[in-house]
Amino acid sequence: MEPVSLLIVEDSKMFANVISGEIKSRLGFDCKIAASFEETKTLVETNADHFFLSILDLNLPDAHDEVIVDYILSKGIPAIVFTGNFGDDIRERILSMDVVDYVLKEGIQDVDYLVRAVNRIYKNRNIKILVVDDSAVTRSFLKSLLSIQKFQVLEASSGEGGLDTITQHPDIRLVITDYNMPGIDGFQFVSAIRKKYSSDRMSIIGISAHGSGILSAKFLKKGANDFVNKPFAKEEFYCRVNHNIEMLEYIEAIHEASNKDYLTGLYNRRYFFDLGRKIFENARRCILDMTIAMIDIDHFKKINDTYGHEVGDSVLKYIAGILMDSFRKADVVSRFGGEEFCIMMTNMKYEKTFPFFERLRKKFENKPFKLITSNTQSIELSITISIGVATKIDHSLERTINNADELLYKAKQGGRNLVIID
Ligand code: GH3
Ligand code: MG
Ligand code: MG
Repeated sequence: MEPVSLLIVEDSKMFANVISGEIKSRLGFDCKIAASFEETKTLVETNADHFFLSILDLNLPDAHDEVIVDYILSKGIPAIVFTGNFGDDIRERILSMDVVDYVLKEGIQDVDYLVRAVNRIYKNRNIKILVVDDSAVTRSFLKSLLSIQKFQVLEASSGEGGLDTITQHPDIRLVITDYNMPGIDGFQFVSAIRKKYSSDRMSIIGISAHGSGILSAKFLKKGANDFVNKPFAKEEFYCRVNHNIEMLEYIEAIHEASNKDYLTGLYNRRYFFDLGRKIFENARRCILDMTIAMIDIDHFKKINDTYGHEVGDSVLKYIAGILMDSFRKADVVSRFGGEEFCIMMTNMKYEKTFPFFERLRKKFENKPFKLITSNTQSIELSITISIGVATKIDHSLERTINNADELLYKAKQGGRNLVIID
């Protein structure tokens, strides 16, 4: 990952350290601190690093109010104003400038908001938003607002054009659309999007000058997630955009969590079957090679009994880590139950299968797992695994898994630390 560097302009050493400490520990970004306007200029002119964002205090010993903001923006660095004093007139002036956000510095909870805002801007750089409006003036206005927040902005001048753009960029997360357009109107456009993309994948905000209640309700009924009436305040617009993007991320996180095992981060059994069934049917239809391996830790109960459940959990995480590193992205690696893992792979040649799993088995055999327990005791565990590998597709996914399970049982019977293949 490219190094991420932030500029903090803040004359209070205490505040500067709190902010940079929080940003470093929560987001992993490096911060450079300037305590005055002079220091800021030196840092910006001499620092080869490109600052992706700055956090600006307005009260500096050698510059007042928006001087610092003007300077930073003139250097093309996005700015969040984080300051203590905010008279109404200065607030108006700052808001009319192209700052990303302004945050009142009152207490520690504001630092929390600040860190989240920094993270938001960082993530926005990879988020695509499509603006659809027949007026070039409106498009360029919306584009400039979104660009300040570092979004990637795409444009289309009609609903038809918008649909083409979405086909080319199916990873667009948010569509902002006008209602009145030549060709298909905003409602038809929203309906067409919804035939292919659900609202938990692609968000839509409708905008129109005819801001009647009926229009906004209709937009929502057609499948838009949200609606903004023109003219709108910049802050309201940002709030709605961010809210919609965050909802998508939230839904994504829930999806992810429901598919994964909490302890190891591997796919869970339910997801293994969801995905596995599709892969299985496809492999059967197309006569592809498919391998199902069932892996079980040898004498795992003894580890729990000797060192406690917590150490047992560490072993499970350690094993999951090695499994994740050992398979390709297209393979489905899951925790099937307690200390059992099931893996589904396609396109592995039969001759290569046994050597592959032998190498995996030996990775554990040859290297003891070292860990420090919660009472600072340092222990070394030799861990072995047994593996049953089914390479022949049976009538159903369940039957094929069962075959792998029977081979695993044979490996256990054969003395453990073994790979048995059909
Ligand atoms: P074998 O070599 O025959 O597989 O013996 P084993 O001891 O590994 O197998 P057994 O099925 O007798 O015991 C499995 C143990 O795994 C029992 C259970 O308490 C433990 N276990 C299951 N899930 C978890 C978990 O999430 N965390 C921990 N720490 N232990 C777990
Ligand atoms: Mg076991
Ligand atoms: Mg078991």
